[in-house]
Amino acid sequence: MKADAYGLGAARIGPVLAGLGCRDFFFAHLAEALALKQLLPLDCRLFVLNGLAPGYEAVCANEGIFPVLSTPEQALAWAALARQMGRILPAALQVDTGMSRLGLSEAELDDILTSPDYSGSVAHQLLMTHMACADDPQAPANASQIECFHRFASRLPEVPSSLANSAAVLSLPKAAGHVLRPGLALYGIAPGGYMGADLEPAISLEARVIQIRQIEAGTGVGYGLDYIAPGPRRIATISAGYADGWPRALSGRGAAVWFRDHRLPLVGRVSMDSCTVDITDIAESQIRPGDTVELIGQHQTVTSLAQILATTPHEVLTMLGNRFARTYIDQPPMGAKETPK
Ligand SMILES: *Cc1c(COP(=O)(O)O)cnc(C)c1O
Repeated sequence: MKADAYGLGAARIGPVLAGLGCRDFFFAHLAEALALKQLLPLDCRLFVLNGLAPGYEAVCANEGIFPVLSTPEQALAWAALARQMGRILPAALQVDTGMSRLGLSEAELDDILTSPDYSGSVAHQLLMTHMACADDPQAPANASQIECFHRFASRLPEVPSSLANSAAVLSLPKAAGHVLRPGLALYGIAPGGYMGADLEPAISLEARVIQIRQIEAGTGVGYGLDYIAPGPRRIATISAGYADGWPRALSGRGAAVWFRDHRLPLVGRVSMDSCTVDITDIAESQIRPGDTVELIGQHQTVTSLAQILATTPHEVLTMLGNRFARTYIDQPPMGAKETPK
């Protein structure tokens, strides 16, 4: 659910997942978990991946949110609050099995588990780790991280385990554990290297044509006049730009938008609120201001955009800005006045 469910709208997607039976939800920040809590069934567990922020321990405990404890300081702060409240507080423990990002080392885990300040104060919901190379099933790091995780898990044999992001869910059965943590795959997008995964993309993105013009050979288009028409061209201006998460870095890299089955190459630089495409191949009567074009859909996937931008599909999704009206097909927006772009 982190980053507003990858930019797609946690408030709409969380309840749908809960309706399908999901009971464990992962957020990056406490504020994200708090915002969704009242929209989820009471028996859901909400975990905060980025852990316990100093000063927010009591809010976290009072709201029934489960921190993912990744440092001895966080673990001891949570245990101290538990004792102060005269309760046993629930949390997940995260261990570092080789990614060097978040999580306790083996020595740190041993220290807290044997510390009288900690033991008996925290109810361990999950023992977690994160895989660095799951999108490359051949990477030797996968086996070594899983093996390392088993060493950690032997200290807490009764605690359910959780290791797998989407890539690991799809390719590393040994990393399945008890609780899976797919993000990207929930939205029908296969992580790098899984083009064959049988997933149906859940999202599409459209924007409107706002102006059409004919230009002559030698005419420049857009900031810097980077594109100079090599002959007569018809240019359409599309109502999406980098402030919408349609990045300026797409300029000059062979990206396009689609109108029905026509590929319309981007020409000139992407501006803040608009971009320009070459529609010369489409008959004049076929496309008009007000028509919508596909930015993401069956012709141009999130994955292909990520390749053009040399990034991950996660980043493409989380960049999409709030100016795009989001329409949910299974539940039409209620009360929300649609402001199509
Ligand atoms: C974001 C995240 C995931 C989900 O990753 P995907 O690649 O989107 O499946 C799983 N676990 C942790 C700890 C994460 O931060």
